[in-house]
Amino acid sequence: MGKININIKSGTLEKEGLIVGIDLGTTNSIIAMVNPETGKPEVLGKADELLVPSVVHITGDGVPLVGNLARQALISHPQSTIFSVKRLLGRSYKDVEAHAPYYTYRILDEEDEKLVRIEVNGKYFTPIELSAEILAELKRRAESLTGKTVNRAVITVPAYFNDSQRQATRDAGKIAGLEVLRIVNEPTAASLAYGLGLNPSEAKTIMVYDLGGGTFDVSILRIEEGVFEVLSTQGDTYLGGDDFDREIIRYWQHNAPENLKSEMAKTLRLLAEDAKKTVCNKQDFQKKILLGGSELILNLDYATFEDLTKHHMEKTLHCLQQAMVDANLAPKDIDEVVLVGGSTRMPFVKQRLSDLFGHIKVNDTLNPDEVVALGAAVEADVIAGNRSDVLLLDVTPLSLGIETVGGLMDVLITRNTKIPCKFIKSYTTSVDGQVKMSISVYQGERELVSENRKLGELLLSGIPAMPAGLPKVEVAFILNADGILTVEAKEIRSGVSQHIDIKPRYGLSDEDVERMLLDSISHAKEDVSIRMRLEARTEAEQMIYTVQRFLEKNAGLLSEAEILNTHKFCDDLQGRLADGDKDTILQGIEALNEYTRPFAERLMNQAVSSALSGTHIDKV
Ligand code: ADP
Ligand code: MG
Repeated sequence: MGKININIKSGTLEKEGLIVGIDLGTTNSIIAMVNPETGKPEVLGKADELLVPSVVHITGDGVPLVGNLARQALISHPQSTIFSVKRLLGRSYKDVEAHAPYYTYRILDEEDEKLVRIEVNGKYFTPIELSAEILAELKRRAESLTGKTVNRAVITVPAYFNDSQRQATRDAGKIAGLEVLRIVNEPTAASLAYGLGLNPSEAKTIMVYDLGGGTFDVSILRIEEGVFEVLSTQGDTYLGGDDFDREIIRYWQHNAPENLKSEMAKTLRLLAEDAKKTVCNKQDFQKKILLGGSELILNLDYATFEDLTKHHMEKTLHCLQQAMVDANLAPKDIDEVVLVGGSTRMPFVKQRLSDLFGHIKVNDTLNPDEVVALGAAVEADVIAGNRSDVLLLDVTPLSLGIETVGGLMDVLITRNTKIPCKFIKSYTTSVDGQVKMSISVYQGERELVSENRKLGELLLSGIPAMPAGLPKVEVAFILNADGILTVEAKEIRSGVSQHIDIKPRYGLSDEDVERMLLDSISHAKEDVSIRMRLEARTEAEQMIYTVQRFLEKNAGLLSEAEILNTHKFCDDLQGRLADGDKDTILQGIEALNEYTRPFAERLMNQAVSSALSGTHIDKV
């Protein structure tokens, strides 16, 4: 996996292979892609295998099996069948120890602080490797279906995932042979699937209610100018469809003979889920089974199910209220409600939310199991450069700026600024009669442009000849939502302008970005002293130039002695430039300044005084 090359001119990626979106779920995982013909996202898979259970069974030979086959082994081989591995991803034993009894497989507790490992038949697995197995299975399925290589992906994670969990997700992708272009929050992806946020001019507050198999999350997002911001997120990492299933088992146990109860808890898990789905489809459930030699009749109807699980439903609403309190919002402030997760198919979920948000219609037209993967596919498509109408929901990883006199980096957009964004700064010329100005655009954190990465250059020509310091050149950096930087330069007095488009982001791999950031930290001190000396030097050169021009033009206003002394101060300052340090140069400037100040005041020459201050760009 190398880095991705971007064609700077067209902004397109130059690499073979499909880009997909993946929802790596706690219970189920899905892979999706935008169909190049229709431009719409689609889940990749055979009709009855769109959802891949996030279960890995390690066979007796130590071979991992993923998906439906593995799911069947949940009951027969609980110790070698890993479910809910997402909960362990990027976590240490300390993080998960409170819930250790929940897992039927062995989680090693020998190292409290380090990432947890899982032991199956004397073999050790990390949650990253097991997640990679699931991702690799999805990749294989997508490849066999499309006949193309799948090598890049956008993978979603819950909004509350921390850095370590996000990094672990990235690493799992890498191990599965995928270049992870971006980690996207699940609620953001779900909103994207509904087309929310695709229109840069709309501002909306969205509530995403995600009830999955084992977890519940509710997030409130704000989209403005194509930027998604998570205002608050709440949830319960141990509340999901499985808990609703367990209530059904308890209900069945209630009417069953005592000696069968513990066996029922173990074996009825999948049957309870079937019953749940049946009644949620508004049909009554009934099944006869044989257990321990006795015949059992298992019944369930919707009203009973709703009643049995009411407290779980209430709990989700309680989290939802809390999320609103955290974001300082009332139900009327919510513009959209989006349903995510297979468990939102339980009819009372939509009903309760519709009651709460009476002023709007709940978004449930997309399949709630698929909606996150579909949104990830949309994001992948944006990154692939296939959509010019949409945004990239991100921040700039590195600062962007231009070169000013002395080779210094003048930053216009600092790193971690949310995009899209626009910044404008004014510059002027440094030489009389300068009619052209070259603007070089750089990316990086170092003070000297030579240490940063050059992105492009723009030439502003046709500036009318004016004294140095008079032209006012406005340089605008517009970083739009798909990561394309447009640089515009305009001379205000004459109106001449010029612009270029630059695609800054994907030419750099993550390692490049990391290295550049580390470099900037380790060189910070050194950079600052070089910068200060260069600034002093530039200021001195500017000053000498200005003073000499002043003498040429206005010699008549000064006495012979004044002219002679001025030359002496200039020569002295010039002498300090060669090897003087910052302070030596500044002293020279101060002396010349002190001596010539009365002349400037005397003359009140506009051009001279503006040339004495302000930032300057070199003549080409
Ligand atoms: P996750 O995000 O945790 O991977 P999913 O979004 O795939 O989970 O949701 C899985 C859960 O959805 C399971 O508990 C499953 O029983 C439940 N579910 C799926 N379909 C239905 C349905 N028709 N009615 C009720 N629950 C359902
Ligand atoms: Mg999910």
